Amino acid sequence: MSVVTRFAPSPTGFLHIGGARTALFNYLYAKRHGGKFLLRIEDTDRARSTQAAVDAIIDGLSWLGLEWDGEPIYQFARAERHAEVARKLLAEGKAYYCYASPEELDAMRAEQKANGLPMRYDGRWRDRDPSEAPAGVPPVIRLKAPKDGETTVQDSVQGTVTVANTQLDDMVLLRADGTPTYMLAVVVDDHDMAVTHVIRGDDHLTNTFRQIQLYNACGWDVPNFSHIPLIHGPDGAKLSKRHGALGADAYRDMGFLPEALCNYLLRLGWGHGDDEIIPMAQAIEWFDLDGIGRSPSRFDVAKLTNLNGHYLREASDDHLAAILAPRLADLVGAPLGDEQAAMVKRALPGLKERAKTLVELAENAVFYLKARPLTLDDKAAKLLAEDGRAPLSSFAQILAALPDWRQETLEEEARKFAESHDLKLGKLAQPLRAALTGSTVSPPIFEVMEILGREESLGRINDVL
Ligand code: GLU
Repeated sequence: MSVVTRFAPSPTGFLHIGGARTALFNYLYAKRHGGKFLLRIEDTDRARSTQAAVDAIIDGLSWLGLEWDGEPIYQFARAERHAEVARKLLAEGKAYYCYASPEELDAMRAEQKANGLPMRYDGRWRDRDPSEAPAGVPPVIRLKAPKDGETTVQDSVQGTVTVANTQLDDMVLLRADGTPTYMLAVVVDDHDMAVTHVIRGDDHLTNTFRQIQLYNACGWDVPNFSHIPLIHGPDGAKLSKRHGALGADAYRDMGFLPEALCNYLLRLGWGHGDDEIIPMAQAIEWFDLDGIGRSPSRFDVAKLTNLNGHYLREASDDHLAAILAPRLADLVGAPLGDEQAAMVKRALPGLKERAKTLVELAENAVFYLKARPLTLDDKAAKLLAEDGRAPLSSFAQILAALPDWRQETLEEEARKFAESHDLKLGKLAQPLRAALTGSTVSPPIFEVMEILGREESLGRINDVL
């Protein structure tokens, strides 16, 4: 039996971090076993489903690299198939029409509540003859669920979880208007899509008992279930917006790499010894259901940021330059020219050692691209207005005559100059930095000079003198 997993988001909002992790686990499990990973958009709630949310989910998954097999399946389009299954169960006596009106059911529940009983459908139409049906009332179809015994979920994460069937009432499969309920749609779709493994949030565990009853009524194989604990915030409370329960797109905007987010989400709820850095290819080799933890994991932006720093340093300069280009163009206010793009690529080895996000990287890189004369920040301006000016001015003359513009030569010249003028190197390097970058912090200044090149460097120095 080949493995088939699926991600089944409801398109009522963006692809949030919990959903992304569920998708990742399903993706990895399928890849690990050479199986298929399917995408099903659960858009049966017409009032809350939006195209924008569908787009955000598809974008988010694509950005993360979680490519699904085949076309996405839209649940709403399958409503007729869902209804057909309900009608088949009806014909087989495994489901029945219930004509109880909403008012009647409200009254039933009110009475149960008043008597301190659990509120459940009491099966009033289960064994009644349909000839007793009130005229003009469209019925719902309910599952004739077993009254005795128990229903057990063999969950690969939660273990064996059992509930007495007396605790479950006869659920509605098809509403009076002929539309399927969520429970019916999920089971029929998972069966028809030949899903072998359902990996989803543990908020769905309680639904699973009823879903198993439905599989049994249909005579279908029950898939393997893994209910993964939800993600909590660093304070232990359920993850909310305040904690960073944002869409995948927000993490992209904040400058995280998809590789880093995937690695982080993987470790959030799954472990392989003490390994923290697990690139996708390795994750595919290692992923298993045994490694999924049973307690809620805590989302920690600082950890994600550190991992991102690692993946930034690992990324190739070509790749980084390409994804950085639009951000830099935004900062500079114009698309980068070829010269500028080449300069960024030369600067990246130095820059990426010092940044943890693409946002930081772009901010640190932008001085290379600024048009002359640079605007100096306050500290840089102050430095050049005070004792930085004189050494810079004398050193500029040496630089102008220097034939070789490599970092090592530049540094050697600067050292010689500082020594012969009885200055600490910083007393020269800082004004150089101020003139060349407009700021008092930057990558090593001689590296900066080599990357800027002779003409641009001398131009920037002359601008401040
Ligand atoms: N559509 C459900 C949700 O977004 C998931 C259902 C499932 O995975 O079975 O929570």
